Amino acid sequence: MRRKLAAGNWKMNGLCADLAEIEALAAAPAPTQTDRLICPPATLIARAARIAPGAIAIGGQECHAMNAGAHTGDISAPMLADAGASYVILGHSERRQDHMESDADVRAKARAAHEAGLTTLICVGETLAERDAANTLDIIGGQLSGSVPDHGTGENLVIAYEPIWAIGTGRTATPEQIGEVHDFIRARLERRFGAGVGRSVRLLYGGSVKPANADTIFAVSNVDGALVGGASLRAADFGAIIAAL
Ligand code: PEP
Repeated sequence: MRRKLAAGNWKMNGLCADLAEIEALAAAPAPTQTDRLICPPATLIARAARIAPGAIAIGGQECHAMNAGAHTGDISAPMLADAGASYVILGHSERRQDHMESDADVRAKARAAHEAGLTTLICVGETLAERDAANTLDIIGGQLSGSVPDHGTGENLVIAYEPIWAIGTGRTATPEQIGEVHDFIRARLERRFGAGVGRSVRLLYGGSVKPANADTIFAVSNVDGALVGGASLRAADFGAIIAAL
């Protein structure tokens, strides 16, 4: 039985005052079957991790593949763990686009993150042009093989399916589109890691998830939660999404 996961990606948003949103989330009754995760900007991780340890998990949005060294501006997986993070998002489409991250980069970062004891939330997703060309499953299959390291388990790996055309656009994939891709990802994981591990990895959907559409998305097979951008910034909205899980 997979636990649900509601993950908030604050992206490059959030000042110290916004930690009040995590405090407000923590003040709400804790859901029994759902893990809650906030990935704030790196500047807030250490403070965020002290707000509700054990109740609201904290994650990074990215890490370097090396543990330390001459990499100005980068943050390593052991640094994230040291600051109190237990998760890290890797391969988000904004990183793949803005920082030219390849599947091989994501895989190397994931290896480093696992060694540091972090759970990786690895993102995959197609562009609109790829979907229109009926290439969605090929793209997702390639990203899974290239980005996910060999030692994935139900504990250290979460996959987020995020169609790029649905991120921050207000457009969500239809339940049929989400179901097709999530079933495909599940089958691929089972084939690669065996049924036990393949069935234990949690699959999140991301792309304009809001309180108003969360119920419909969470009813889709193999959707174990959501990776939420804009609607995770305010506790009221994110709390409503969590309640729908
Ligand atoms: C995201 O950034 O991963 C995301 C899904 O953003 P939004 O919910 O704003 O579309």
